[in-house]
Amino acid sequence: MTKRIFKSMCVVALSVFAASLVMFIGILYDYFSSIQKRQLAMQTDLAASGVIHAGAGYFEGLNTKDYRITWIDKGGAVLFDSRSEAVEMESHLEREEIREAFSEGYGESVRYSTTLLERAVYCARRLPDGTVLRLSIAQNTPVILVMGMLQPICLIIMVAFILSLFLASRLSKAIVKPLNELNLDEPSSEAGYEEITPLLERIEAQQEEIRKAEQIRREFTANVSHELKTPLHTISGSAELMMNKMVKPEDIPGFAGRIYGEAGRMISLVEDILKLSHLDEGAEEMNREEIDLYFLAQETVRALMPAAERADVSVELSGEPAVISGFRAPLEGILFNLCDNAIKYNRRGGSVFVTVRKKDGGAELKVSDTGIGIPKEHQERIFERFYRVDKGRSREIGGTGLGLSIVKHAAMLHGAEIEVESVVNEGTVVAVYFPADRD
Ligand code: ADP
Repeated sequence: MTKRIFKSMCVVALSVFAASLVMFIGILYDYFSSIQKRQLAMQTDLAASGVIHAGAGYFEGLNTKDYRITWIDKGGAVLFDSRSEAVEMESHLEREEIREAFSEGYGESVRYSTTLLERAVYCARRLPDGTVLRLSIAQNTPVILVMGMLQPICLIIMVAFILSLFLASRLSKAIVKPLNELNLDEPSSEAGYEEITPLLERIEAQQEEIRKAEQIRREFTANVSHELKTPLHTISGSAELMMNKMVKPEDIPGFAGRIYGEAGRMISLVEDILKLSHLDEGAEEMNREEIDLYFLAQETVRALMPAAERADVSVELSGEPAVISGFRAPLEGILFNLCDNAIKYNRRGGSVFVTVRKKDGGAELKVSDTGIGIPKEHQERIFERFYRVDKGRSREIGGTGLGLSIVKHAAMLHGAEIEVESVVNEGTVVAVYFPADRD
């Protein structure tokens, strides 16, 4: 990053410098040209007064150096020219500055001279006898101007180059320094640059999320260990008693039954953990398909019928086919856990009503029961992993405390919303709204 900033600064500084130099030379050229013109006009006037007083004698032995001096009679014929033989020269009547001098008394022009083979400035003055005296001088081109100042220009370029490198190097280091010194544990505490505050806030929010996720993971691991330990203790204790022949033969079926029950609880727990970890992987790992929620509900109700009969709870399914685009296993997880809870947390002779309907282009699933209900203060927390209103009762009926977490994650995967309405001792309604397909 330091290198990139350094390079950019050098490029900017040198480009600005080059552009300024070109403009500066342009302005200088303009300035020198106007001075040159003014001086030529003055010298023309001086020479004119010389010719007025001395006539043709003024030109005898005249050393004109860089200047060219031409004297033209009323008819445009050249009487004298310091560079060429006057008699060989064509009429000068058509020259712009001469025409102007004849009519206005004074004329000037800048043009390419065929005699001098260069750009030249011309100033012409009409004399009292009607003749015209003209002075001209070669005009420097910008290239000649630059060549004349080559040494100082090279020196300035070198100084500017070294200064640019030095300043760019210092500035780029100064810009990067606060970024390298950022305390990422507390990003927003000392941003250094106002502009990166949103980025630092995002980093902080992400870190907070990571911290929360880590906390949840730790709690989850601790809970899982605890949940697995309880049945394992029962299994190991019962097995030890049987191994040490401390159980009467007639009690063995009871002990074996306990071992079998606890092993089943462990299997359910492991299955639920696997389901949750599968859901944590997200949609990328699963196959999206068109699924009829009503058909899926029918299958779930059929599978849970024996459990419902054992609990003396009637289960009724109503509604209509509602096809949504989703993932089969998570949707089965929603239906199974909601219906299973509605049967488990019911009373003998109670009922469960499952309805599936199309709604707003999506679908609505409602599972209502006439069971024990959920106290208001627990309703917010029942979707947390391992949260149970009545731990003893849940354990007794084989709950893992993960059912509603699976429902919540599976719903999130489908962008679905969950609503819970419950009255203690009257019953519970859990509704899941699946939105219309977004594609
Ligand atoms: P569990 O395996 O214990 O059923 P869940 O995550 O499915 O775990 O549910 C969490 C808790 O929410 C349950 O222990 C229970 O106390 C309560 N609960 C869930 N569904 C119902 C319901 N239909 N009626 C009454 N209580 C319920």
